[in-house]
Formats: sequence, structure tokens, C-alpha cells
Amino acid sequence: MAQDSHPIRVRPALESIATYKPGKGRPGRVRKLSSNENPFPPLPQVVDAIAGMADSVNRYPDMIAAPLIERLAEHHGVDADRITVGNGSCSLIAHLLQAVATEGDEIVMPWRSFEAYPILVGITGARAVEVPLTPAFEHDPHGLAQAVTEHTRAVLLCTPNNPTGTPLSAEAFEAIMASVPSDVLVLLDEAYYDFDDSPGRLDGFALVEKYPNLIAARTFSKAYGLCGLRVGYAVSSPFIAECIRKTTPPFAVNSAAQAAAIEALNHRDVVDQQVATIIAERDALVAAVRQRGFDVPETRANFLWFPGERARDAIVAACERHAISVRAFPDGVRVSVGAPDDNQAFLDAIADIDPAAL
Ligand code: PMP
Repeated sequence: MAQDSHPIRVRPALESIATYKPGKGRPGRVRKLSSNENPFPPLPQVVDAIAGMADSVNRYPDMIAAPLIERLAEHHGVDADRITVGNGSCSLIAHLLQAVATEGDEIVMPWRSFEAYPILVGITGARAVEVPLTPAFEHDPHGLAQAVTEHTRAVLLCTPNNPTGTPLSAEAFEAIMASVPSDVLVLLDEAYYDFDDSPGRLDGFALVEKYPNLIAARTFSKAYGLCGLRVGYAVSSPFIAECIRKTTPPFAVNSAAQAAAIEALNHRDVVDQQVATIIAERDALVAAVRQRGFDVPETRANFLWFPGERARDAIVAACERHAISVRAFPDGVRVSVGAPDDNQAFLDAIADIDPAAL
């Protein structure tokens, strides 16, 4: 992006901000295993709830999504004044960062992690400080602690980590919290919380009372299967929640999205069944690829990480031949767990790859 060829002056910070690239592939044309979506279609009750809002879209939605927040408070057993919602957790994180950081500040994050983090940090003007994951693709508590300086305004944590699927252990989390100054915000991004069946799974919502500088974010995009509607939510101290409300543009969550999210919460039992199916499919997929010799790390999310450029190239090429869309990164490839026939199609597609030869 060259400023010289355009007459409008934009913030210099934009030069270094990449544009977010979504997972490729249009469902119907390809098997889309590139965006960690829920392969189940929306529940009929959710579809009805969306349709039920159609005749009132000439009116603005509830400004702060109060009915949804009340329902979330009840569901999670937390006070409503600790909950904020946003236009997807991506926007929520963006507004959170805008509340704490600006030019000259630093945000510490594990890397590789969610592609949007450096972009959202860049938008604030702050600098993203990336701390490499351990060789086991886990957060490095020591490295993260060492990266914190007087300029640090937030530390981002992601569990299970996207794109590696590795969960953050309670011990590692406690160690990080012990080393981060209490005036530095810590975000625990739990977008894939529902798929995390690890023993002693972290529960950020239960930890915010203990740690006033902690905020835990989740989303309706993954387990609830509502990514097309864009609803994310977070639990924090009431003070942090109020700060996010200040930086969030008015009416962030539209009325159809609010109604659908409430309805999805009302059918949590069905969501649980879908999650159980996805976890079983994930574990079967991990077992199958490991049996073939692929060295994939433990995943507690709805995706698998195949590290290495050669594995990536071989898998991407095989999937292209079979009209399967997966997500390539500079250092590996991420494959979402899909419907059973999608997962089988993926296994068939990579059948000719010999991991030992890579
Ligand atoms: N956090 C992580 C770790 C993610 O992977 C994603 C989506 N890919 C999000 C947040 C954002 O989700 P959404 O904006 O759809 O709520």
C-alpha cells in the first residue's frame, strides 16, 4: 500500500497492517475445512428466531443486547455487569485493545496464534510482541513473562490455541498471571472452549473474580454454529466491561443475531450433542493421521495442525486436487474437523502422502 499514489492521508500505522485473509472456498463448491466452522446446519428454532426479527428491522436493535446479556449471565452464572457482547469476538477484542493501547504501547502474544491478533493490535497503533510457542506448540510462560515491559498494555492468550489446537494448562496460566503486573490486561481467548475436553480445562469465566485484570472471550461462531451472524461475548471486571462499551460503536450486535444467540442458548443440549460428535470426529481424525505417520500435536479444538512447510505443501496440493479447502500458513497447515464425510474425504485425499518422505 503506497501512500504516494493516493491523495488521502491515512495513519502511518496502516502501512504495517496486513489485511485479514479468510479461509478460502465456497461451501457447495468445495469441502470447506479452512475456517473452523460448525458443519451442522443451524437449528430450526434458530432459523425461526432470525425470521421472527425480519418485520422489525426498521427499528434499531437493543443497544447493548441486554436480553442476550441477561440470558448469558443466567447461563454462565456470572453478573450481567461483567458481560459485554460484540460483533463477533474479533470485534470485541479489537474494541478491548482500543481501550488499553495506542501508539508507543506493546501487546504481548504467543506466536503462532490467531492471525487477527497482530492486525487488531496494529489498528491501535501499538506494537505486537510475538513470543514463539514451545516446540510442543504450547504457550511459553517464561517467554511471555520476559516479553512484558513497562510499555506492555495487554497479554493475549489463546486456549485451545488457533491454529495448533494446544490447550493452555492451568499451571501455565497461573504462572503467566503471577508474572504479569496487575495493571496489565490479560485476554484469555476461549473461542474453542467447548471443544476443549482436556482434564482440568481452564475456565476463564470462573477466574475473572480472582484476577481483576483478566478478561475471557468466547463466541457463538464455533460450537454454536452462528459465525454468519457475528456474536462474541466476554466476561471481565465491570470496569473493563464498561471500557469496552465506550470503545464499541453503537448497536454492534444486530437484532437477528441477538435473537438467534438467545435461541441457541435455549437449545444448549443440542449444541452439546453436536460438540460431542465433533470431538469424536476430531479424535478419530487425529488417530488416523498419526497411524499414517503424521506428527500432529495434541488438539483440543475443532481443527488439526500439520506443522512444517513440506507437509503443508503436500497436504494443500492433495486437497486442491480433491476440492477440499484447508488453511495454509507459512509454517504448516490447519485442517478443520468437518462432517464425517468431509473428514473421510480429507483422509482419502492425503492417502498417497508418505509423511516419512517429506
Ligand atoms: N479467536 C480465535 C482464536 C479465533 O480462531 C476466532 C475465529 N477464527 C475468533 C477469535 C473470532 O471469532 P468471531 O469473530 O467469529 O467470534
